[in-house]
Amino acid sequence: MEEQFQPKKIKRHAKSLQQKAKGHTVLVDDPRYGRYKVISGGSGNEYTVNVFQSGGASCNCDWALKRQDALVEHQGATACSHTIAVFEFIAQGQGRHVSAWADPLEAERQHRPSIDLVDGVVLTTRKAPRRYTQTDFLFLMK
Ligand SMILES: [Zn+2]
Repeated sequence: MEEQFQPKKIKRHAKSLQQKAKGHTVLVDDPRYGRYKVISGGSGNEYTVNVFQSGGASCNCDWALKRQDALVEHQGATACSHTIAVFEFIAQGQGRHVSAWADPLEAERQHRPSIDLVDGVVLTTRKAPRRYTQTDFLFLMK
């Protein structure tokens, strides 16, 4: 049976997506178009993430491609661990970190800048002490 997109299921998984995102490596591909490469920490597969100026981002992973129909109304925006990894990468460059929330009201209660990833996942950003990660070094060496 074909796996169906289940909004409620993804809602419960916001924190595990965030956890998974931490294992990925993010590289800047083309900053002019907000394009990033994400190398999966699990499979080693490489994905392309495009960040929209209007907020949100698209990805070409299996999860995102399976859901093309649902994505059309959001210009292809998707909440997968790869798009979360890219927003974390961008946030780190600004001395911030992202947190993923499954409930928009819960995100609102944080009183922080937020990004709606659709799929019922909202990211908030908070200030964090600057600390270098492996991702930063890969970026610096590029
Ligand atoms: Zn993805």
